[in-house]
Amino acid sequence: MKALEIELTSACNARCPICMRTRLIERGIPVKKEHYTVDNIKQYFDPIDMKGMRVKFCGVLGDPIACPELYEISEYFLNREVKHIEVSTNAGLKTTKWWERYGELSSKSDNRLEIHFAIDGVNTNDYRVGVNLEKVWNNVDTYLNAGGFASWQYIIFKYNEHELEEARTIAKDKGMKFITRTAWKNDVSEIEQADIKRKAENKDYA
Ligand code: SF4
Repeated sequence: MKALEIELTSACNARCPICMRTRLIERGIPVKKEHYTVDNIKQYFDPIDMKGMRVKFCGVLGDPIACPELYEISEYFLNREVKHIEVSTNAGLKTTKWWERYGELSSKSDNRLEIHFAIDGVNTNDYRVGVNLEKVWNNVDTYLNAGGFASWQYIIFKYNEHELEEARTIAKDKGMKFITRTAWKNDVSEIEQADIKRKAENKDYA
């Protein structure tokens, strides 16, 4: 095994229209909130040689930032000598102090701990429904100022197309790689894609 992806939590602070959790909730299907703890992770991974492995914390139903023990779990894998940890997050949770500590952990990791900040716009972040953009930028800056390593992942929509070049410049100034995406998840039907596009264009996410 060279790489693995772990969904650390089923919780999230956002309601992105394309997300499976949003679609389930819209259909009246509740998403039970559960998180992995560092003790769970140790139990599973202590017996496995993790040296040189790539680990990704992403989610189908949850955002890793909503996992209460994200710091401890990241630290555990770094101590187990993994090659790289990628954390994909909307960055809308946790305290400034937490982001400072997480930036320091990344800084000490020799770029092995990398965040992919999912922010879809500079002054607007409409797709990330329920995420406070001011808090996001405070978290991003705190993490980067503490020496954290990160990339900025930007999904292009009609509402944020005009901010693309500004975003690219900001990412460069802040020392982040800039990644654009237009991808839909594979299991979204054409009808759902059309509905999602309509919602994005009309900013109709309620
Ligand atoms: S931030 Fe991620 S997990 Fe949360 S609603 Fe958006 S896509 Fe889903």
